[in-house]
Amino acid sequence: MLDISHIRSQFPILQQSVNGTPIVYLDNAATTHNPQAVIDASTRYYTELNSNIHRGVHYLSRAATEAHEAARTTIAKHLNAAHDHEVIFTSGTTDGINLVANCLSRSGKVQAGDRILISGLEHHSNIVPWQFLCQDTGAELDIIPITDSGEWDLTALDSLITERTKVVAVSHISNALGTINPIEQVIKKAKSVGAITLIDGAQSAAHCPINVQTLGADFYAFSGHKCYSTTGTGILWGREDILNELPPYRGGGEMIKRVTFENTTFNELPFKFEAGTPNIEGGIALAAAFDWINATGLDAITAHEDHLLKIATDEISQIDNINIYGTSANKAAVLSFNIDGIHHYDLGTLMDQMGVAVRTGHHCCQPLMQRFGITGTVRASFAAYNSEQEVEALIKAIKKSAMMLG
Ligand SMILES: *Cc1c(COP(=O)(O)O)cnc(C)c1O
Repeated sequence: MLDISHIRSQFPILQQSVNGTPIVYLDNAATTHNPQAVIDASTRYYTELNSNIHRGVHYLSRAATEAHEAARTTIAKHLNAAHDHEVIFTSGTTDGINLVANCLSRSGKVQAGDRILISGLEHHSNIVPWQFLCQDTGAELDIIPITDSGEWDLTALDSLITERTKVVAVSHISNALGTINPIEQVIKKAKSVGAITLIDGAQSAAHCPINVQTLGADFYAFSGHKCYSTTGTGILWGREDILNELPPYRGGGEMIKRVTFENTTFNELPFKFEAGTPNIEGGIALAAAFDWINATGLDAITAHEDHLLKIATDEISQIDNINIYGTSANKAAVLSFNIDGIHHYDLGTLMDQMGVAVRTGHHCCQPLMQRFGITGTVRASFAAYNSEQEVEALIKAIKKSAMMLG
């Protein structure tokens, strides 16, 4: 069991009030807050280490390089990567997916007539880069259909993944519905036809243990800011052999071995994919965030979030005219809903006035919203620091707002 008041005391941002009431922050699927340990790691970087990395002969540059590479090692261990150099620092999930799609596009591995498989509940950042790849190569997109409960419909998996399928890119956990997708089954099928697999782990990296070696996918992408760390940082884990086969992504400093005006040769992993000065502090902060998650206990965090989801779901189901989107038995701590006759935006706006922060709208999943015939939902999403009292505040705010708007 987590000591929630102890956890909350480690998050300075939660100590403030909004509209005269203590902030109830339930927008964790959009971004999570930073514990003091992560803020301290960022501050320490800027107060003691700040310097450009890798090429410096001086003390600060060496110290910053060491801290940055130590962060890579911490993250590689957390993911159980076979090699530290399989961990590539990016600016976030979006950046990681674009890297893979762009490099695949220029690799010659995807040809006209090939198929790319995604699912119907993907975030726009796991849709649009693949549309670019299709435009560039003449490949075509296939979509795993979504059931009424917000799960993948895999009854036709054998026709969705065929010998023509070259890439399968799917999310581990849906940010809009919370569904935990059966990625293992899809990865296995994809591998049987030799397709390259990418998992969008934006919602899962801080929710469940990730073991990239047993998972069997080729790429796993996530964002630091959804793992109790800072914005503008992310990780793309990639399997060494495939990373070596891909061309570099962006051109610039750090990613080269030797440049002449006639010809350039490229650096080895991971630097081949890390052109330019990275977010050095962000990488260090992300490692501190995983240290914090592991010290707090990932299993305990997940159990706590599941408990909050359960009591919130039980209580919200009692509210008149409520529609919950995403009713899978296998869900992470995301609760998406609408009330008949009330616009999600109006509901969310009133709830904010009562100090409850939720997200409203399409959650960057417009095709999924179309699947359910809606323009958006109200979404509450829970993290380690949320409490049962906050679930009560959520339910009260929904009821009061619905009454005012109804
Ligand atoms: C947040 C999110 C993304 C995009 O992450 P960025 O940090 O904005 O790059 C992609 N996929 C899912 C499932 C997400 O939740």
